Amino acid sequence: MMLNRTGPASSNPLKLEDVEKPVPKAGEVLVRVISVGVCRSNLHMIEGDWLHDGVPSKLPIIPGHEIIGEIADLGDGVNWLKKGQKVGIQPLWSTCGRCEYCLTGRENLCPHKEITGETLDGGYAEYMLGNAMHVYPIPQGIDPDLSSPLFCPGVTAYRAVKRSDLGPGKTAYVMGIGGVGHVVVQIAKLTGSRVVAISTREEHSELAYESGADDVLNPGVKYDRLGDHVRKADSVIVFSPNQDAINAASKLVKAGGNIVLGVHGGMDRISFVDEIQIRGSVIGPRSDMYSVLDLASHGKIRIHSTKYRLSEANEVINLLKKKEIKGRAVLIP
Ligand SMILES: [Zn+2]
Ligand SMILES: [Zn+2]
Repeated sequence: MMLNRTGPASSNPLKLEDVEKPVPKAGEVLVRVISVGVCRSNLHMIEGDWLHDGVPSKLPIIPGHEIIGEIADLGDGVNWLKKGQKVGIQPLWSTCGRCEYCLTGRENLCPHKEITGETLDGGYAEYMLGNAMHVYPIPQGIDPDLSSPLFCPGVTAYRAVKRSDLGPGKTAYVMGIGGVGHVVVQIAKLTGSRVVAISTREEHSELAYESGADDVLNPGVKYDRLGDHVRKADSVIVFSPNQDAINAASKLVKAGGNIVLGVHGGMDRISFVDEIQIRGSVIGPRSDMYSVLDLASHGKIRIHSTKYRLSEANEVINLLKKKEIKGRAVLIP
């Protein structure tokens, strides 16, 4: 599905087009896509919300950055992967390997990174190219049709929890129980913390309980019904794409606590006397991705996915915009 020009989701901007099967260069692999997750950031890119940040960096472009597929061909020099092997690709398509971030385990911050489906073609397609240094063999016990979202919500959730300093006896509040949030709940529970999920949608509350939340709070659409939850959180992890949610996070966090932001937004007044820390979190380096695959292969985390056909991508993007997707939608070519 090709994005030739950005536009409102309701105008069905993705077009089904025939394109040449790409040919892997040295260090690349050709991947036959088995499934690709539909991310809210795909919606933002498709609608042109991020043009001012240079996303997408080229048009036309094939979106899609959470992929499981099968290796169909190998470029020169790739001798540690095999044809027919199942692999995943995450948003971090490649990194430079030389900068201060790459050399200190924070390659997700590499200024020279390529982003799958944003700076080069992604997985809303039958075939795509992967960088052999950044494809991940799929371990046993992972369903390739349903688990492609491990490669964005999975790693994004994992890193956000890692940056939240949770542990036994701590309380986490997770705002926004969508594709990422429902995995954040599962991983936060693995730290031994009490987890309160916050969602303004009834169907998403159900998913929060299914994901292991101890409590689910519906604070109303304006987030003005926080009740006695104010200043109860050791960490508030925000994946709701809503400025009101971010404002509410600053009320929920207790002195000495932290807010982990996985979305764009502004921060209201925060008083220094509370020593509150605000941290961003963005996807994750390869080491985090391997930890996610390990957890998933041992049944510790599970993506709630619904399958659609690749040709239904526009419909799915519209459902996502209306917040009518429970968990994650995956497209099957
Ligand atoms: Zn994503
Ligand atoms: Zn780098």
